[in-house]
Amino acid sequence: MRDYHIHTENSFDSLAKMEEYCKRAIELGFKEVAFMEHYDMNPKDESKGYFSYHKYMDGITSCRNQFGDQLKITAGLELGEPHEYWEHHEEYKKDKAFDLFIGSVHFVNGDVIHRTYEDWETTEKIYMDYFNALLKTVKTGNFNILGHIDVIKRYLPDRAGKFNPYPFKEIIFEVLKETISKNIAIEVNSSGLRQKLREPLPAYEIVNWYRSLGGEKIVFGSDAHRLEHLGTDYKTLEEAIKILGFKGFSKWDEGEWK
Ligand SMILES: [Zn+2]
Ligand SMILES: [Zn+2]
Repeated sequence: MRDYHIHTENSFDSLAKMEEYCKRAIELGFKEVAFMEHYDMNPKDESKGYFSYHKYMDGITSCRNQFGDQLKITAGLELGEPHEYWEHHEEYKKDKAFDLFIGSVHFVNGDVIHRTYEDWETTEKIYMDYFNALLKTVKTGNFNILGHIDVIKRYLPDRAGKFNPYPFKEIIFEVLKETISKNIAIEVNSSGLRQKLREPLPAYEIVNWYRSLGGEKIVFGSDAHRLEHLGTDYKTLEEAIKILGFKGFSKWDEGEWK
């Protein structure tokens, strides 16, 4: 069991402690935890300027010293909008000891996606813009995991019901094909299962499309922002992806997906 998407107090929106996660991961029988902190550049993002590399690496080193014989501790970032900031990202990464990166889109057209639109016409346009941004992001190829592919569905108005990915099938296929050609794994993010969505991100239909295109690199992420989120619904999702034809979740080993 491996959790590739965990936030700690090194992210602007979490107070959770790295050490506590490590202890809990060992109790739960996890083999690996990846601390993927928010790293954002959009001037409107509260997260901009929050992350401190030295504070973070001190935490990683201390945890590796204490728990490294029982748990693999992976260091990384969740990069916001790689298609807009990839040049900065490449420069920033150069002298740093990160193992892994998630690429995520949280802003579209310069605005945060965390909002609900009243009419479907506007919603549909924003969703198309989001998936187009996601495609551009994957094309940069400057990260290892594509984060929460259909995260924008969290903000559908309640009356819209369950998110239907079919109107966006074509563009989502483009995104998935591009991840395969760029050796980027897709994340199955369990946060939706513990929230009102009651389904993972992306939806099972999208995971199935990925499989039908020959995709094999799929990782589990809880997107934990609190200790009790760590590894949530791992077993449910492992079972689900096996039903969809995957051997199991992938792992990052010596610079490769296995
Ligand atoms: Zn995210
Ligand atoms: Zn996250």
